[in-house]
Amino acid sequence: MAAKILVVDDQMGVRRLLYEAFREEGYDVDMAASGHEAITKVMEEIPGLILMDMKMPGMNGLEALKEIKKINQAIAVIMMTAYGELEIVTQAMKLGVREYITKPFDLNELKLLVKQTLIEIEAC
Ligand SMILES: [Mg+2]
Repeated sequence: MAAKILVVDDQMGVRRLLYEAFREEGYDVDMAASGHEAITKVMEEIPGLILMDMKMPGMNGLEALKEIKKINQAIAVIMMTAYGELEIVTQAMKLGVREYITKPFDLNELKLLVKQTLIEIEAC
């Protein structure tokens, strides 16, 4: 069965881009436009991997991550940060996020990162 990826980003253009790109790769993709929506979706069904934007109005990615980790500690998350958000990256790493990508990202690089992360999870 295809892994389920949850794309969390407040920008519709980014959500659509990632939705299309990962659907094309054969993944089952779902989207959330906010941290709150992401938490609701994770409570309904644990995805295989989350692509989480950091900069979002209201609840940011880090706050959403903290709540999601309470639901499932082992969930794999790739953070999408803007250049210079090193403090947020450091905090995210403390919460167990191993991977992050800086916006604007290269789509092929992100696809590879997702693939590698999913392989690592399966190997656990
Ligand atoms: Mg954003």
